[in-house]
Amino acid sequence: MVYSETKCVCCNQPLTIQQAVNGPVCDDLSCKGPHLQMLQQSARAKEKGLRQAKAHEALAIIDRTLDPDLPITVVPSIESTAAPLSEERREKFKEHLRSRITLARHLLNDAIKRPELERAAGEPTTDFSSLLVVNACTTCGGYCCQNGKDHAFLSAEDIALQMIRDPDLNDEQLFEQYIDRLPQEIHTNSCVFHARNGCALEREIRSDTCNGFICDGINDHRKLASENRHLECLSVSVDRDQIVRIGYIDKGGERVEFPVADNA
Ligand code: SF4
Ligand code: SF4
Ligand SMILES: [Zn+2]
Repeated sequence: MVYSETKCVCCNQPLTIQQAVNGPVCDDLSCKGPHLQMLQQSARAKEKGLRQAKAHEALAIIDRTLDPDLPITVVPSIESTAAPLSEERREKFKEHLRSRITLARHLLNDAIKRPELERAAGEPTTDFSSLLVVNACTTCGGYCCQNGKDHAFLSAEDIALQMIRDPDLNDEQLFEQYIDRLPQEIHTNSCVFHARNGCALEREIRSDTCNGFICDGINDHRKLASENRHLECLSVSVDRDQIVRIGYIDKGGERVEFPVADNA
């Protein structure tokens, strides 16, 4: 074995050249685990620092005196281009939904799964709705929804939960409630339900993934947002390091966008 001059940053053992290049950390799990965690933490801190810098940049652009404690979310951005929802994509979603409804019925007949689902159905659904989230997601335009593709993240468990909550709903009605909501026009290359003015599904029938997800920019202010749902705030959406939109919302929910010069 050829060893390098470098030592493991955790246990100080000499490292092979390969370990030195990849690490510098040895293969011991008690060294690799904490080292990886430390790298992730420092990457997160760096990203948070970049978001804070963008928040300052945005304040300079709008050139207004605002409360210095005003929360500023820095979020991604999606280009606002719409196209008709193609027949091919409608069919793909229908296929996905049919298979999830069938699987959901199987889950409800499973003696182990059913009690778990019944417990979950009794729990309150995740609710991150607050003015801060509304402003952030509107300013962003729904970047994360691009991953919804032709499935909208709907799983058999999501459908099974609805079946438990509303036992009178038959499979055909369940199917139709989604198909009826498919928009004519959607954001290009995004989820089949991603309409120009946001998600076409009510929160109650969205997937658990959709209802539970928040991006890092919102997560920076998560505590504040859950303590105060009517928080005045600013949101900045960024595309490849360029600020593209700045949205402000007041305590009453009035939202305005500030013009941003095209720096591209
Ligand atoms: S959660 Fe984040 S990425 Fe998703 S729409 Fe809202 S601001 Fe955009
Ligand atoms: S169902 Fe709605 S919230 Fe979920 S990915 Fe699609 S558009 Fe976004
Ligand atoms: Zn080590």
